[in-house]
Amino acid sequence: MDLPTPQHLALPGDKIREITGFGMSFRADSYVFQPTTLDEVREVFALARQVGRNIVLRGAGRSYGDAAIDAESIALDFTQMKRFLSWDPETGIAECEPGVTIEDLWRTGLPHGWWPKVVSGTMFPTLGGALAMNIHGKNNFRMGTLGDNVLEIDLMTVDGKVRTLTPDQELFYAAISSAGLLGVITRVKLGMKKVHSGDLKVYAESLPNWDAQIEAFEKRAENADYMVSWVDCFGSGAGAGRGLFHAAWHLPDEDSESLLPFHQDLPEKIAKVVPKSQVWRILKPLNNRFGMKWLNAAKHLSGKFVGNRKMHTQSLVAFSFLLDYVPNWRNAYLPDGFIQYQTFVPKEAAKRVFAKQIEMTQEAKMEPFLGVLKKHKPDRFLLSHSLDGYSFALDFKVSEETWPRLQRLCQRMNEMVIESGGRFYLAKDGTLTPEHAQAYLGENLTTLQLLKKELDPEGLLTSGQARRLKLFESA
Ligand SMILES: Cc1cc2nc3c(=O)[nH]c(=O)nc-3n(C[C@H](O)[C@H](O)[C@H](O)COP(=O)(O)OP(=O)(O)OC[C@H]3O[C@@H](n4cnc5c(N)ncnc54)[C@H](O)[C@@H]3O)c2cc1C
Repeated sequence: MDLPTPQHLALPGDKIREITGFGMSFRADSYVFQPTTLDEVREVFALARQVGRNIVLRGAGRSYGDAAIDAESIALDFTQMKRFLSWDPETGIAECEPGVTIEDLWRTGLPHGWWPKVVSGTMFPTLGGALAMNIHGKNNFRMGTLGDNVLEIDLMTVDGKVRTLTPDQELFYAAISSAGLLGVITRVKLGMKKVHSGDLKVYAESLPNWDAQIEAFEKRAENADYMVSWVDCFGSGAGAGRGLFHAAWHLPDEDSESLLPFHQDLPEKIAKVVPKSQVWRILKPLNNRFGMKWLNAAKHLSGKFVGNRKMHTQSLVAFSFLLDYVPNWRNAYLPDGFIQYQTFVPKEAAKRVFAKQIEMTQEAKMEPFLGVLKKHKPDRFLLSHSLDGYSFALDFKVSEETWPRLQRLCQRMNEMVIESGGRFYLAKDGTLTPEHAQAYLGENLTTLQLLKKELDPEGLLTSGQARRLKLFESA
């Protein structure tokens, strides 16, 4: 790594890059450093102090908002610390540097019959970034979060010291989930799940309304390995909450061929004709209220008439990482990008709150273009987003003109979520206010502030989100 000498304290101009949240609506110029060793991380801590700048930690930049960006700070990007420190194909236990991705995990494990226990809807997050947010998968209701399935982590604090943390230590539950604000996760040890086939058995059911949505999840929760449902956010009246539910199960029979990457790799062309890399260009002209209303209705109809209430098989990768099918799909939202707004609501209130959220977006003529429902269970991590209930993730297009209205709309929806005892997810946040963050985090925010004073007393680590939410201002 090229670091400036003590005689030349200005940061090198060639390190300046524009970095963005995944939704591209939050952008910042930063000095980007990509360490490859622990000593290089320590050197960047020292450099930040010398030049008087903060540091924002960054993985693959898959958080939608401003959690992994910060204007004019040093961005410490871990994508080049990506070695497996150990891997045992007999036990499925891996020890990884923080830049190892979910994709690296499944490519390494699956040929030996091991699949990551928890994966997000995209395979590109790094383990460091995924643990800092404590990601969940479509099996959250059964398996908990990624953090619930980790054996050990190393946390490097800004004094350069490395602590090994295990699930019997309180700091383990704070380091995981605290959005990179207490220290750097430098090593992750986890076990994978034994699988016999690279395919899943998948059940699809077209659903007419909100009642049917919640009923479908509750009915299958006993035995499904994974569950997820798509909601047409343009549905109203009797069609409010309509959508397409999927449940999936691992297959018990040995099928070694299906474990190989060539069986899993997503096809280069959609319907064997359109190159995947070009699909976002086709989506772009449809990426407005009318186009999306039509596309959502078409998806609802096709779910109703094709494969409804039937089983099919699908590869683990195709089922788990559907959104990775279309590279650069987010470009359809250019020039101003989009936000994802995901709220978590206790199960008794979920139907009421989510139905009302959609009504509010329709009244405002700002319907989300995509809505995804999942079932969750609580966990004991400090800044946990999960609870005994449901989450609803909504993709909203952003434009310079509508941004203030969209923020106000989300903030009105936040009030309902808080009133129901619900929670928010920092990986998907771009619109929380300091008051809303304080309201849902409660005493856990005080604990975070105390830990910050102990582990990072100078406040070296920050992010655009931590500043926006004034997380440490009342400390
Ligand atoms: C298409 C798509 C689908 C998604 N689906 C899901 C889903 O199903 N479930 C879910 O839970 N999430 C989902 N996400 C969100 C994503 O999993 C999280 O945002 C995850 O944190 C991204 O990891 P990353 O490596 O990109 O980290 P970044 O986004 O770069 O950073 C995330 C946070 O981690 C901190 N950080 C980064 N590296 C480290 C480190 N080594 N040590 C300490 N802190 C660090 C950063 O400061 C930041 O606060 C999805 C995102 C996308 C784009």
